[in-house]
Amino acid sequence: MKINSTSELVQDLKKGKYQHVFITTHHKPDGDAMGSTLGLYHIMSKLGIKTSVITPTDYSESLAWLPGDDTVTNFEESPEQAKNLLNESDIIFCLDFNVLTRINELGDLIKTANKPIVLVDHHQNPDEFYTYAYWNNESSSTCELIFEWARDNFGLENIDKNAVTCLYTGLMTDTGNFQYINTRSNTHIVAAQMMDIGVDHVSIHERIYHVFSVNRSRLFGYCLYKKLEILEDCKTALIYLDRYELEEFKVVTGDTEGLVNFGLGIKGIVLSVLIIDRTEKVKMSFRSKGDFRVNEFAGKFFNGGGHFNAAGGASDEPLEVVVAKFKKEIQSYKEELNAIKA
Ligand code: 5GP
Ligand code: MN
Repeated sequence: MKINSTSELVQDLKKGKYQHVFITTHHKPDGDAMGSTLGLYHIMSKLGIKTSVITPTDYSESLAWLPGDDTVTNFEESPEQAKNLLNESDIIFCLDFNVLTRINELGDLIKTANKPIVLVDHHQNPDEFYTYAYWNNESSSTCELIFEWARDNFGLENIDKNAVTCLYTGLMTDTGNFQYINTRSNTHIVAAQMMDIGVDHVSIHERIYHVFSVNRSRLFGYCLYKKLEILEDCKTALIYLDRYELEEFKVVTGDTEGLVNFGLGIKGIVLSVLIIDRTEKVKMSFRSKGDFRVNEFAGKFFNGGGHFNAAGGASDEPLEVVVAKFKKEIQSYKEELNAIKA
């Protein structure tokens, strides 16, 4: 499914109607979120439009090398600066998320700002808070969408090396290096066009994946050795971490990224779950194989959502309660899980 209601927006951007673009993305932005916001930042800057990128929170150090990172304002760290930028801007782009509640207080400010909102996103079921949308849930990533939108409306000459360096990063991370089901032929066409502009894919890969701290490496080892539970009757792998463990390994933002994938790498496992007792909430990550729709499961029991095979959720209840609830609820999906070949 697709929505493209941006033709008036494109004309207005070309006519110079908008002088200051405000771009934001989801809580704890990942590679696609930062890649798409900073990619769009470079494209808008090339078009001569003043552009500000505001994130609701901090993000992983492994993304801090992205060109343009030094211009980003973190709302949690500098709320007044972010509010001033919102007041000064005349249009808001929301990238890689589609419910304003996912960005908490910043979402409330955006809702009441009374400015046009542009949604560019690939998650299921967008809320209708936008004025213009470029949305496609079959797209691999928001970076793929930003690239094709900019190419088709403003031409490849307005997409420079800095832009494609950011955009390729999200294409690569959201597809798990072009391995997940969301990788389609268009993803590779877009990747090829990015390479023609000047993507250094080897360097991007190294900067994203070969940057583990020693603590993070030990945390992964500890989780696989001591914490991995296999729920054999449900073909499920489960890891959960409490606050003491997070402190012991000095876990910082981004350190647990990718950990949930290890469960799914085990032969015979079709569902992998990671549950972490973060300070604000208990956060959950779900990954599945085949037809098991983790976004529906996360939405039904843990106030979450996401994609068919990759989703997340959250709970205000204590860690033990969340773990027990997961173990109980998953029982009713036993047959469905066992029917999946792995
Ligand atoms: P991750 O497990 O990497 O945090 O998230 C996987 C996917 O699920 C991402 O596409 C993300 O957008 C979505 N997701 C993660 N947490 C939540 C949540 O609390 N609510 C919703 N609706 N989606 C989430
Ligand atoms: Mn994404």
